Amino acid sequence: MLGRYGAHLAATGWSVVGRVGENVEGQRYALQDMAGRLVDAGRRLYERGWVPATSGNFSARLDDGRIAITVSGRHKGELVDDDIMLVDADGDALDSSKRPSAETLLHVRLYRRFPDAAAVLHTHSVNDTLISRTRGDHVALDDYELLKAFRGVNTHDARIRVPIFDNDQDMVRLADRVDAYMDAHPELHAYLIAGHGLYTWGTSLEEALRHLEALEFLFECEMRLQGAVMR
Ligand SMILES: [Zn+2]
Repeated sequence: MLGRYGAHLAATGWSVVGRVGENVEGQRYALQDMAGRLVDAGRRLYERGWVPATSGNFSARLDDGRIAITVSGRHKGELVDDDIMLVDADGDALDSSKRPSAETLLHVRLYRRFPDAAAVLHTHSVNDTLISRTRGDHVALDDYELLKAFRGVNTHDARIRVPIFDNDQDMVRLADRVDAYMDAHPELHAYLIAGHGLYTWGTSLEEALRHLEALEFLFECEMRLQGAVMR
């Protein structure tokens, strides 16, 4: 499959003009380069227990605007390059022999909303699941040094709000609810789906991975703190 989509191997930086006068910097990738990176990310995230039992999905926006995403139902710790497929900006499969993840629509909505987004990661860790079931409609993270891992945050004296949406097997309805929330709260780094998992993104795969690692750490802090307070 990879050979059909061109030869260049290296990731290429890019720059586009977003809203008038605003420069949007981001990273876009060639497919062959990105497939290997997503496979590698899957192995590492599985080893940390964040994508058990074939759960989770990962994607990256390529240098031509198409999106590379994990196929449906594969074990994320055992991915191979051929488990990464292409969809267009609407989430429609560009390879008829493969089925994209059921949650592809949530990925493409994020790319549409954030022109500088280059990667989206979705995980199902114990802490994602627990915290999404023990809070109301959001998790507030404040006064943590690790908040500086988030793009644009340079002090512990900040607050990151991670909204929690009810789980739904109807992806259009879920995506519409997420979109409506984001219309009102554009400064977002991540969201949770209750009893399900986490979505986060970045202007490069590395940044998305950094956001994910920070969130997993902070959710664990919050859950342990909650347990300590209740004891
Ligand atoms: Zn999921």
